[in-house]
This record gives sequence, structure tokens and C-alpha cells, in this order.
Amino acid sequence: MSKSIFSDGIVSGRLSKDQYEENFSDLHPPLDKHEAMVAADRCYFCYDAPCITACPTDIDIPLFIRQISTGTAESAAKTIFEKNILGGMCARVCPTETLCEEACVREVAEGKPVEIGKLQRFATDLLMDQDRHPFEREPETGKKICVVGAGPAGLSCAHRLALRGHNVVIFDANKKAGGLNEYGIAAYKTVENFAEKEIEWLLGIGGIVLEQDRVLGKDFSLDKILDEYDAVFLGVGLSGVNALNLNNENNTRIVDAVEFISGLRQTSNLESYPVGREVVVIGGGMTAVDAAVQSKLLGSEKVHLVYRRSRDRMNASKFEQDLATSKGVNIITNAQPNELENIGEKVSVSFNYTAEKDGKLVNLDHGFSIEADQVLKAIGQTFEVTEKDLKIHNGKIKVDSAGQTSIGRVWAGGDCATGGDDLTVTAVAEGRDAAEQINLALAPS
Ligand code: SF4
Repeated sequence: MSKSIFSDGIVSGRLSKDQYEENFSDLHPPLDKHEAMVAADRCYFCYDAPCITACPTDIDIPLFIRQISTGTAESAAKTIFEKNILGGMCARVCPTETLCEEACVREVAEGKPVEIGKLQRFATDLLMDQDRHPFEREPETGKKICVVGAGPAGLSCAHRLALRGHNVVIFDANKKAGGLNEYGIAAYKTVENFAEKEIEWLLGIGGIVLEQDRVLGKDFSLDKILDEYDAVFLGVGLSGVNALNLNNENNTRIVDAVEFISGLRQTSNLESYPVGREVVVIGGGMTAVDAAVQSKLLGSEKVHLVYRRSRDRMNASKFEQDLATSKGVNIITNAQPNELENIGEKVSVSFNYTAEKDGKLVNLDHGFSIEADQVLKAIGQTFEVTEKDLKIHNGKIKVDSAGQTSIGRVWAGGDCATGGDDLTVTAVAEGRDAAEQINLALAPS
């Protein structure tokens, strides 16, 4: 490892252990009981509540808030889990500011929404801390379903299928289950191994066998599992990463942001996790912000997040953008990279300024360069096709509104499938709804 990448024992200037603990502590500390009561009290319990419509999983938000305010938080949690079995994680990572809280009438009237996300966390944490699963399976159907991928879509699908009495096997490609919840989200959003604990709790329903290190297209094929199972759900996510397609891109200082975030989530030693003194992050989505903020929290002196379009076109919400700037990230918009040059232990990234003309992005004839010792690419991920019979549309598995793919008895959902935003909560909804469709398709006629 080169010396200009910060690493414990090689270069001075890294932060203290206490500072790391503080930097990577819970982004939104949980509400205590009194705070939850006060927050719940602000809800108007609207008829035709717009917050429900804005929630991709259709949680009955006014009902669960009323249940909290009447002192029955466990019932509130059950209301949430009936619609969204990963309601605990979604309470931590959902961009509520662009979903339920943006639609809340108190946001519209006063600019201060009911704290729906925090209330959801209050209720779900309370119930998950109890040593029993809140749902019981329906009678066994004798049907076997294979779920490929143990990310939010796969887990949600598996749980709903198990609830309906089916037996489920999940094959997951990674060492640990959870998909993006385990590998792809900033550490300060899900502290204390919450993703792992949530899966253990979810499996408490029974009827689900989880097998790690099983890769579709390598360890098994779709044909093979179709022979052995009554139905298949694909929730494999996006494993490919886009390239900048510039010369010198294979420099070890130029890293995929997903790889950077995933390594950071799995490390037990933040003090020695490699990060540049000066970092350039290229991209404008949540991954770009998560990578930029965490670089800063790891101790980088300067972090520039460079996005090719304007701020309002960034996929990262305004809250996320503000979080980044509050941590010292320098956001530069309307600029895209056109050259990478290796200069000793640094990489010089040259950018062109851009403008939108007739809806098209054009490079202007002036720009700037940044000499960085680490470049993190967050320019999107792709679905890696391993099954030739699957119809693909815009780089994703083509599904109909019921999640059905072009192959009989095969459904798909989450980031790998067409339709919906690439959000945890959307993946949960798609997995749940596909499970109900599979259940219908397998019902005795
Ligand atoms: Fe409560 Fe706001 Fe939803 Fe109305 S829109 S029910 S005030 S959370």
C-alpha cells in the first residue's frame, strides 16, 4: 500500500479510536418512550393519509402512530411488519424525507413532518428485542420454493412465502446474508450489526433454509433449480459495476465505491481502513454520498464529490446532500471526468464542465483537475446476465407488474428487475408482492 493512502502505523494523522467511535455512531439515535409519545402526538391521524400513499410498502402509518400514542407499541410494530418485514432496517435507511415525511401534511403546512421514520424504529426495535417472532406460519403446503439472493427483496419474499406455509431455500452468493443491507449501506446508518440481527429475527418464522456462498451461473443454474423447486424468485441485485472507460483506470487508487463501502462495513478496524488524504468521489447517488461522507469520517482531509449534472438532478436526496456538506464534503456539480493521469503516488483527474442543452449533456471547453490519492467511482451498477433465456430490458430482468419474468415459474424483484426505484423499501415491497403472486400460482385449482 502506498504511503499517501492513510493507514494506521504508516502515515500519521489518522483519527483516535474515540473519534472513530463518535464518527461512526448511530446517525439518528433512537427515541426514548417519552420522545416517542411527544412525536406521535403530532400526528393528525389523517383520513386518506398521504403518508401511506407515499410509502412503497403501504404501511398504515396513522394506525401505527395511534397505537404508539395509546401505549401499544408492540401492536404498532405488528402493523408495520405485516406490510414490511424489514421495517426495522427501513426505519434506519429509508429516505423518509422524499417519501412518507415529504408527503406528511405537517411538512406541507409547517415544514416539519411527523417523525415517521423514528417512530417506526421505536416500535420495531421494541418488538424485535423480545425473544419471539410475531407471526405464525399457515399450515404446510408441501411446496418448495427457491429464492436466489438474500438481500431485501429475497428476504422479504422468503418470509412471506414461509408465512403462507411454503418451504423456502435461499441461495446467496456472499459470505453473509443481507445483500446491500449488509454490504452496501453506510456504517453509521445501521450500527451494532443490525442487519445480521434482523435476519436472525426474520428467520424465526421457520420454514426457511439459508445457504451462503451459492452463486447462480457458477454453482447452480436456473434450469437445475426449476427441476427441483415449484417456483423460483430472483432477487440477485446488481453485481456488475460501471466503468469510466478512461485510460489508466486500472490504477489501484481508483476503486469502486461499492467495494469501498462493503469493505468498510466488514472491517473490524476503522483505524487502518485505507482511505486517501484527498479523495475524489465520482457520482451523484446515495452510494456516492455514503462513500464521500465515510471517507471524511475516516479522516480524509479533503473529499470532493463530483457529479456531471446539477444538484437537483442528483439521486441522493437533499437531506443526504446536506449531510455530506455538513461533514465537510465539497460537492461540485456539472462536471464530468475526461482524463486520468498517474502522477507518482497520486492520480490527476481532469474534468470538463458540462451544461444541459435540449435535454442533452454537453461538455464545455473548459474544466479543472484534482490531484487525489484515491478516486471512488459511484457511477452505477449493472445486472450480470448469466441465464440466456431471461428477457432483459434496460440492463435488468424484464418483469410484468406481478414480478413474473419471461420464464414460467420464475419471478424477480429488487434492483435486478425492471420497475421501481433502487431503494431497500421498494425491494421489500416487490419481494413481498411476488411471494403473494407465487402463492396464488401454486394454490390448488
Ligand atoms: Fe400523521 Fe402526517 Fe400521516 Fe397525516 S400525513 S397521518 S399527520 S404522519
